[in-house]
Amino acid sequence: MAQPIAIAVHGGAGDIRPTNLPADKARQVEAYLREVVEEGYRLLAEGRTALEVVEIAVRRLEDAGYFNAGRGAVRNARGEVELDAAIMDGHTRRAGAVAAVRRTANPITLARHVMERTPHVLIVGPAGDSLAEVWQLPLRNDLSTPSEVPWTYGTVGAVALDRYGHLAAATSTGGIDKKAPGRVGDTPIIGAGTYAEDDLLAVSATGRGEYFIRSVLAYDIAARVRYGKIPLPSAIQQVFAERLEAIGGEGGVIVVSPRGEVFFHFNTPGMYRAGKDAQGNLSVGIFR
Ligand code: ASP
Repeated sequence: MAQPIAIAVHGGAGDIRPTNLPADKARQVEAYLREVVEEGYRLLAEGRTALEVVEIAVRRLEDAGYFNAGRGAVRNARGEVELDAAIMDGHTRRAGAVAAVRRTANPITLARHVMERTPHVLIVGPAGDSLAEVWQLPLRNDLSTPSEVPWTYGTVGAVALDRYGHLAAATSTGGIDKKAPGRVGDTPIIGAGTYAEDDLLAVSATGRGEYFIRSVLAYDIAARVRYGKIPLPSAIQQVFAERLEAIGGEGGVIVVSPRGEVFFHFNTPGMYRAGKDAQGNLSVGIFR
């Protein structure tokens, strides 16, 4: 039998309802997420690694210009863009992340370079942008003009299983609208908003980051599967109920299992999401 492959992506969770999301916008974002998933699945089928594919998927979402990541990112309280991103390889548990970078066009690619070209995991602020320059990664050029994005969806993320049995996760965000300068959310914090470990799961989160950090949410799901030996869907549900909701947190996760199952879970009215599992089942959705 062919080795299972799977992928899921998200474009953020929040108070997204049919009453506040115009139908044409809903169709547009669903079509884009579906395209990113189909492309990722095709690449996985061709033998590309989960690590490569989650980076490519997130970069596409950063480049779209209407998600809160990369080109479309929201502004902080001073009107500046500060971007966070992380990527993790479940095979080696290597990880790379950047926080509060301002000039880098694709923070997820910078995060991967941090993982592969430095002995570090997390680089913050202007030093991250300087590395992007040294490594000749594309820079943003729209920083002086106010965002012309007509509509912004949320944070973006991707999780995948490749045919070598390896998992990977990636997340990228502009953070919370009007956040304090220097504020860093859960996205680039390994184990909070992003985590991958072969044999357990790959997870990417979205929601108010402070609660995800305080819940150590992504790793807590992994730990319940590892030590509690409980099924992944139960672990996800327990972590939301017992840790995230217990302190008032809201948001969602996308998860891929080592067998190529895809799980979506959120406690907000909506989460932009799409996935394709090992059986080839495609799911795309926004609302509950
Ligand atoms: N988790 C992100 C953050 O707190 C924001 C989001 O997912 O909407 O930075």
